[in-house]
Amino acid sequence: METTKKRVLLLATGGTIASRQGEEGLEPEPAPPELLTALEELGHYYKITYRSILNLDSSNIQAEEWQLIARSVYEALPVYDGVVITHGTDTMAYTASMLSFMLQNLSKSVVLTGSQLPIGLPLSDARSNLATAFAAVNYGLPGVSIAFHHKIIRGCRAVKVRTMSFDAFESVNSPDRGELFADGIHVIGKHAPEPKGPLTLCDRLCNDVFLLKLIPGTNPRIFDMLLEMNYRGVVLEAFGAGGLHFIRRDLAAQVKRLVENGVAVVVCSQCLYEKSDFSIYEVGRKILSTGVIEARDMTTEAAVTKLMWALGRTDSMDEVRRIFATNYAGEITL
Ligand code: ASP
Repeated sequence: METTKKRVLLLATGGTIASRQGEEGLEPEPAPPELLTALEELGHYYKITYRSILNLDSSNIQAEEWQLIARSVYEALPVYDGVVITHGTDTMAYTASMLSFMLQNLSKSVVLTGSQLPIGLPLSDARSNLATAFAAVNYGLPGVSIAFHHKIIRGCRAVKVRTMSFDAFESVNSPDRGELFADGIHVIGKHAPEPKGPLTLCDRLCNDVFLLKLIPGTNPRIFDMLLEMNYRGVVLEAFGAGGLHFIRRDLAAQVKRLVENGVAVVVCSQCLYEKSDFSIYEVGRKILSTGVIEARDMTTEAAVTKLMWALGRTDSMDEVRRIFATNYAGEITL
């Protein structure tokens, strides 16, 4: 039997799943005994190696940690059938998106999971989420996914939408990849582009990316600040299908100024669902001709991480535009 077990590496990075009540609130620990016991039980079905690479609440996970996680996965994949990553839920969607870009031509399963309650608590969802993640690896679902609450979501389509419910994540503008039933995983979603070559680690990125969510009356001078601070990329969450105000406080002129100064401006909607289209209204069209890039139906998490990744690869605006017009991991419907 031993030979048929899938070899799975579990990379632990912290998060609620590995947390315990400390003096200052919930704090992660590197090897909680309850997590190790759960893995021992799963070890009846999988050949599991446990490696703690970080011990952080995911609010502390940033570019450097994404690179460490991506490199750890890249180095492990030749010898494992798949990788499960335990991670805090708060920024899991960002990490999952970034890994989707950094690990090009990924034909094996990389599945992130975590929980809303620590694994040591009686009502915890940790064990069931872990079991779902391992089932996804066992199925061999290629690419980066998030396994949570019996659902498997494409990493670059995931958004954390609930703070307390166990059903914390949704797949936005794309069906779930799969769902866990009593008889195993039912795959329902479409596949992302097929790998076109060997697995490649593309882990350079640019941290000088800003996300700006507009409110009615946003002061246009905020764009001067962004220029002064040398941001190279800005994701702009505009209103509805695609609009921003130009009367009294002219945001459109400021967007133009950013683009003329060589900043890559990606525009998307504040609405969670469906695509943006800045060509519909005058309040959107005004910036279309300035050279902004439309994020269409990408999640904000995917747009931000894709921009960081694109600017890590190139200084050329044309190339950034080309990258955004490419569907790398199922993040955009073209
Ligand atoms: N604050 C925690 C984290 O993101 C929340 C969680 O894991 O559910 O690390």
